[in-house]
Formats: sequence, structure tokens, C-alpha cells
Amino acid sequence: MRTPVIAGNWKMHKTTGEARALARAIREGMSETDHCQVVVAPPYTALAAVAEEIRSSRVFLAAQNVHWEPKGAFTGEVSIAMLEELGCGMAIIGHSERRQYFAETDETVNRKVRAVVQSQLQAIVCIGETLPQRESGSYHQVITQQLAGGLAGLTHQTLLRIILAYEPVWAIGTGRTASPETAQEVHGSIRDWLSQKFGREAAQQVRILYGGSVKPDNIADLMRQPDIDGALVGGACLEAESFLRIVRFNS
Ligand code: PEP
Repeated sequence: MRTPVIAGNWKMHKTTGEARALARAIREGMSETDHCQVVVAPPYTALAAVAEEIRSSRVFLAAQNVHWEPKGAFTGEVSIAMLEELGCGMAIIGHSERRQYFAETDETVNRKVRAVVQSQLQAIVCIGETLPQRESGSYHQVITQQLAGGLAGLTHQTLLRIILAYEPVWAIGTGRTASPETAQEVHGSIRDWLSQKFGREAAQQVRILYGGSVKPDNIADLMRQPDIDGALVGGACLEAESFLRIVRFNS
């Protein structure tokens, strides 16, 4: 009942020319794909070019970040309206790299989430624990705190405008994927938390993606888990061939 999502976060990779070529290769390689929603998140500078390449295709465009204010003196920031005008349908919010290197907090994540759910965009909200938090056994507490802080003020209706991405920080870019069972254990607990807070019906509709060293050879096992509804992919989305193999997880 939940359409899977495979989203590629290109991070700070690809010049505009390179981004065009990658977007074209993805578009051409997935003409028959209708079992999942495919999303690409290029850097801001390449959004317009990628939007052109994927026009009239089934590929969705996402930004890697967004600011909560509609306009103003916020040097270096980009507003929701600016993204909408470029054809973005989604924005990633609270990626662990934003939290780690750019002082993103649950509070700023929440400001962004609240702004996005009032717009035409959907938010892909990232949460996940670090290695010390996993090893100390406090990861459930950490995730609950990120959920409570990041999603504060949402209703069961606005909740439906977000997609969650569980991305254990220790699995991002390390080649150390969470096992399908380890990921499912957290995904199940996230859905339970959503259920308690927003009601079972809304919780059942929210897509919860897994992210952290997803590759063509581990995606199928992850996708067999009942509460894993897709993937947020970093390294393996930078080549069309490996991204498309992940997109075709069901074949
Ligand atoms: C990410 O940064 O969101 C990510 C999941 O990266 P990687 O796939 O490279 O681990």
C-alpha cells in the first residue's frame, strides 16, 4: 500500500554538465519503472538543468536542503518558493551531514519541516544515531528525541507530507550497511512511535526509507523488510548504472 521510494542524494557532486548527463542516463534507463518513485537530489546549482532533463519523465526532483523563511536577509540560503519554481517536489531536511558540519538541530529541522508541510513540497526528514550512540544502546532514545523534536507541531494530516529516512550515521559512506534485521528493528519502532503520536492510520501511510551504504547487492534484502519503504542512497547514486540497479530492486 506504500509506494516505495528510491532517492539519490548527490551531495556536493556533479557540475551542471555532469548532472545533466547523469539525469539523462537515469531517465533513459528507467522508462518502464512504475513499481517505485524515483527521486534525484542534485546540488542547488544543477537543479534547473536536471529539471529540464527529467521533464515529462517519472523522475522526481528534490533539493538537499531548504530554508524555513519565505524570503529575507539570509545569505546563502534558498527558499521553498525558489525550489518550487524550479520544479522541485521534495526537499531533504536534517541530513546527518547538515547536523554534523552545519549545526543543524532538531529545532531547525522542525522549522524547516513546518514550513515545507504548508507548501507544495514534501519533506524527506533524516534521523539516525551515531556509532557511540548505537554502541551505548541509547539509539532508541536518540531517535525518539529526533522524531519528537523534528516533527513537533505536525498533525496526522501534515504528517502525510513527509517521508522519513532512517540513516544510522555509522552506516553512511562507510560500506557498513545495517543488516536488514537491524534496520527493520528501528523502522518498526519508528512506525510504533508515529502510531502512538498520530494514530495508526496515518502511521501506516508514512514511507520510512533506509539510508547507509545501500548498494545494488543489498537493496533487495532491505526491501523485503515490512517497514522499509525505500532507500536514500549516497555513493551508489552517482553512477547511473548502480543507481538504476537499486531502482530495479524487484527484478
Ligand atoms: C547518505 O548520505 O544519505 C547516504 C546514505 O550515503 P551512502 O549511501 O554513501 O552511505
